[in-house]
Amino acid sequence: IHPVYAEMGTTVFERMSALAREVGAINLGQGFPDGPPPAALLDAASRALHERSNQYPPSAGLPELRAAVCAHYARTQGLDLAPAQVTVTSGATEAIAAAVLALVAPGDEVILFQPAYDAYAPMVRRAGGVPVSVLLEPPHYRYEAAALEAAVTPRTRVIMLNDPLNPAGTVAGEAELAAIAAFCIAHDLVAICDEVWEQVRFDGRTHRSLMACEGMAGRVVKIGSAGKIFGLTGWKIGWMAAQGDLAVALGRVHQFLTFTTAVPLQWAVAEGLGRGDILDALHAEWSASRDRLKRGLEAAGLVVLPNAATWFLCIDLAASGIALSDAEFSERALREAGVATVPVSALYAGGSERTPTHIVRLCYTKPDAVLDEALTRIAAWV
Ligand code: GLN
Repeated sequence: IHPVYAEMGTTVFERMSALAREVGAINLGQGFPDGPPPAALLDAASRALHERSNQYPPSAGLPELRAAVCAHYARTQGLDLAPAQVTVTSGATEAIAAAVLALVAPGDEVILFQPAYDAYAPMVRRAGGVPVSVLLEPPHYRYEAAALEAAVTPRTRVIMLNDPLNPAGTVAGEAELAAIAAFCIAHDLVAICDEVWEQVRFDGRTHRSLMACEGMAGRVVKIGSAGKIFGLTGWKIGWMAAQGDLAVALGRVHQFLTFTTAVPLQWAVAEGLGRGDILDALHAEWSASRDRLKRGLEAAGLVVLPNAATWFLCIDLAASGIALSDAEFSERALREAGVATVPVSALYAGGSERTPTHIVRLCYTKPDAVLDEALTRIAAWV
């Protein structure tokens, strides 16, 4: 067994979901909506299952989906991508793996921000790379040019950016993105941009990709997720876009990772991306759920950190006068209150004395009755 896997445990998301099932808790841990999915997408998938080929589509994905992804990004983000630059993957997690495998050679340093999706660091290490962490400070999790400069060495090849940021739910500002772009150009780096939360933002500003920054088009792997856009996390349809040789290399990695991904679902996602009405309805639904959970948590005396995006709200235990660590809070909330959450310290690779241990993440994309019951349990317990 490779040492990377010999040493690791099970991801916090899987662990909390399994525990929630075991004790019958309400699951506000792992990020997924549990309301009914958009009916038009279920119909589209069902039509595709019955009426279209169920055999291998092209490895890079259905041409119709690749074209729909380009049209979606042209419309929503002003990006000029061609279908040949897009590879459809089995979820964004495969795209992240493919990008790391395509770009990282043994000994290469990769700058990762903390907190981060817990898949990044092990993937980099498995590729032989060396993760170099840049800590983002709560509550604003700002990207500071000085911290980037302190992390870079002649061996740095890649930077991994997740904007909007899970678990914090914060969004990089224009000036922060410009600083990251200038940094990548100055040090000749490629950026792996995990933008799965690009559609789930609430500050009124549309998403801006690092790919759209001056001089960055050829230096970015832009990763997206139908699971996050449509609230269909079990479909595992994602994609990655890049230019030139980088796009070709990504396609080569993907052909020997999963080769391709479920074709009826690709048809349905292609149809969904053209449906502005579905995107708007989901946005309105999630916005209302976010407000509902925030109001309820605050009514229970909990301090909610600033949030502009993602399906998550974070609470600050210290500011709420709760003397437990995030891990203790999550464990006890699960067993004593029957509500699963995610301790944010689990999303700091390696961890250190600088890892904050007072922040807990809750997923709000749930029906009103589920949120209300969870809030009743939390209020009675804290
Ligand atoms: N990204 C999801 C979350 O933050 C988890 C993904 C997973 O469990 N693989 O909850």
